Amino acid sequence: MLKKDTYVSMSIPALSTARENLIEKDKNDVLASFRDHFSLPEGIIYLDGNSLGPLPLGAAERAAEVINNEWAQGLIRSWNTAGWFEMPSRLGDKLSKLIGGNDGETVVTDTTSLNLFKAIASTVRIQQQDAPGRRVILSERDNFPTDIYIAEGISDFLNSVKEETGEHYEVRLIDETLSLEDALDDSVAVLALSHVNYRTGAMWDMHAVTDQAHAAGALVIWDLAHAAGAVPVDLNGSNADYAVGCTYKYLNGGPGSPAFIWVNARHQGRFWQPLTGWWSHAAPFEMTDSYTAANDVRRFLCGTQPIASMAMVECGLDVSLAADMELVRAKSLALTDLFISLVNERCGEFGLELITPENHADRGSHVSFRHPEGYAIIQALIDRGVIGDYREPEVLRFGITPLYLSYTEIWDAVEILRDILETQAWDVPAYKNRNAVT
Ligand SMILES: *Cc1c(COP(=O)(O)O)cnc(C)c1O
Repeated sequence: MLKKDTYVSMSIPALSTARENLIEKDKNDVLASFRDHFSLPEGIIYLDGNSLGPLPLGAAERAAEVINNEWAQGLIRSWNTAGWFEMPSRLGDKLSKLIGGNDGETVVTDTTSLNLFKAIASTVRIQQQDAPGRRVILSERDNFPTDIYIAEGISDFLNSVKEETGEHYEVRLIDETLSLEDALDDSVAVLALSHVNYRTGAMWDMHAVTDQAHAAGALVIWDLAHAAGAVPVDLNGSNADYAVGCTYKYLNGGPGSPAFIWVNARHQGRFWQPLTGWWSHAAPFEMTDSYTAANDVRRFLCGTQPIASMAMVECGLDVSLAADMELVRAKSLALTDLFISLVNERCGEFGLELITPENHADRGSHVSFRHPEGYAIIQALIDRGVIGDYREPEVLRFGITPLYLSYTEIWDAVEILRDILETQAWDVPAYKNRNAVT
């Protein structure tokens, strides 16, 4: 896996943006064949793989196998005979390879929100023992809301049970008025950040930030929701403490597919998490009347897992594991550069404001623009077969996924965007009614 520095110095020649050159570029694209692993509808340019990845072809087959064979025929026996019970760890080992983890450090389980709860609780507990005065959970105001809400929930819970002691926990957020450096004082127990920002696509330097937090005495949790499968991640190389993330975004695991949690092997002897369900017990089927934690990463499990959904996660993982992450990153940068240049060239006069960092080392694999009519523009694009999404406030977000997108599709998407802006096709009431999911 490439170190991030390599990308900073890697010069990616500026692409000619003429469509015939892009057709040529697609012909020579060594990742082009990966598109054949996915089922994508005809006539759609899918720029939302950062929100819900498409269906890997193998997943439909695998789902049929789980349902018709393992469940219908195998029944309860399949927990043993079809490998259901080991699935969280077996898939965790596969996932580990994509994020710079080792075997035995990752499990696939639960949701990102739940896993973040476990990870924060775990770091707070370690700090209670090692540095009891540290009671700040540090995150950033611009983080994905669930990450902030979960931190608040833990802090509120700790405060409610410790009311009389005066040991007050709090959530502190980095923003324009508070830098990471200033926020990292000796009251911080844990720093919990998203590697790639869900809204802007801005990427933290995992290695540098982890070093900085450790030097200040804090533990570090990385949320890899928009990073796993999208950018090279090196958790052990960065010496991170914990990480969590989704499998339904760039890892193409399916709607609501189980998430993952990684813990650095150095914490495995002592880490603890409060959702002490029986799947995290050292010997669940001894049915003992008291809890003893499993002595490995299974300690992060809680209860019975969603096997059918988890089985499909493996199909997405297998596709990502077959791709060279170095090539995926190079193509991601080339495609995002192309998208940014074309929007500049072709849509410059329509008031789209780029909010994604242009510097390669500072961005993930999606590109976002602000526009006051962002929601309506996205609806108009979707009607024309270009699927992106909308995030408050005023943000049009486009996921750029090298495994199934071509250079010409980026060109075509920008032409459709230009047409919508030029003709003001977005300016109709139907495009302004908000759906429940934006
Ligand atoms: C998508 C995303 C989540 C989603 O959490 P769920 O529990 O799966 O709903 C969490 N954090 C970040 C940073 C995300 O981008």
